[in-house]
Amino acid sequence: MAKEKIRRVKCLIIGSGPAGYTAAIYAARADLNPVLYTGLEPGGQLTTTTEVDNFPGYPEGIDGPTMMIQLQQQAERFGTEVNMGMVTEVKLSKKHGGVHKACIDNKEWIEAQTIIISTGATAKYLGLPSEQKLRGGGVSACAVCDGFFYKGMDVAVVGGGDTACEDASYLANICNKVTMLIRRGEMRASKAMQHRVEKLENVDIRYFTEAEEVLGENTVEGLRIINNQTKETEELKISGFFLAIGHTPNTEIFKDQLTMDEAGYLITKGKSTKTNLPGVFAAGDVQDNEYRQAVTAAGTGCMAALDAERYLGTIEEVIEEKEESISA
Ligand code: NDP
Repeated sequence: MAKEKIRRVKCLIIGSGPAGYTAAIYAARADLNPVLYTGLEPGGQLTTTTEVDNFPGYPEGIDGPTMMIQLQQQAERFGTEVNMGMVTEVKLSKKHGGVHKACIDNKEWIEAQTIIISTGATAKYLGLPSEQKLRGGGVSACAVCDGFFYKGMDVAVVGGGDTACEDASYLANICNKVTMLIRRGEMRASKAMQHRVEKLENVDIRYFTEAEEVLGENTVEGLRIINNQTKETEELKISGFFLAIGHTPNTEIFKDQLTMDEAGYLITKGKSTKTNLPGVFAAGDVQDNEYRQAVTAAGTGCMAALDAERYLGTIEEVIEEKEESISA
């Protein structure tokens, strides 16, 4: 029988957004020798934002990609091993002190005593070519991050859920006018949130309305909308186009092993980052569909590393990193 080497680590971190890197900083400083796999989009959602103005400690703001590089450097400074690669499959142990297995890029397996999952969530887009072309040029899926750039201007928000209502009322405070596009004759949002936007004078709610094309070459200059009942089209002059049609948590590989809610977000216990399996922790947007901010993700990343450290303190044999020959 062929023998192959398998690597064992104390702490494996999956994902490279603010949650993953903050977990790495804390885990590395606690001598957990973390090994982090970045996933397909190193740096996570913040690498698709321009200016980040709401992360404490940056009085002049910082652009998303730079912030993520600095977070990576900070994690590496304390000894985190950062690897490009995607965890494509996991076999999680149900036993306290058991060893979890993760497959990297469908090729090699790595074993870990603790896993911190920080794979994030992906904002949904409509998929219009004009929308994709203008991402970062006025098309945004984060009103709280980017709304400020459209101070005094006209903008549109797509979606009729709680996020869209929250975004519309946030933007109504900053912008001149907000047009909400809702594809059905009613909103999905809670009544309280609906009333909140209905009361705002500068929010124009359009039911049965969809975006057909985002107009503009390098920046958003307008939007062609269509009434899906009458098929009438209209062009709005806007400078910002905000998507609020939901997020998809990146949890496909954990299905049937970890407890999730209906939308696929990982469920953590109480105030902790503990999942339903011992030694497996979740941090950041993958377990949070409510706050979804870089700073809250970073906060839960810190918690996950502390939870992992405490967990390792409760098990008898903490493995030091090693490679072992096993039968393939
Ligand atoms: P939801 O899935 O609740 O709503 C998505 C909205 O986008 C719906 O109106 C949906 O329309 C619309 N939509 C989806 N796809 C398209 C499309 N292709 N074109 C046009 N419209 C589309 O997502 P949210 O992000 O709003 O909320 C997610 C969860 O987070 C919910 O449980 C929500 O309650 C919660 N939340 C709570 C908050 C709070 O309590 N403060 C704040 C924010 C979120 P349709 O209805 O026709 O499917």
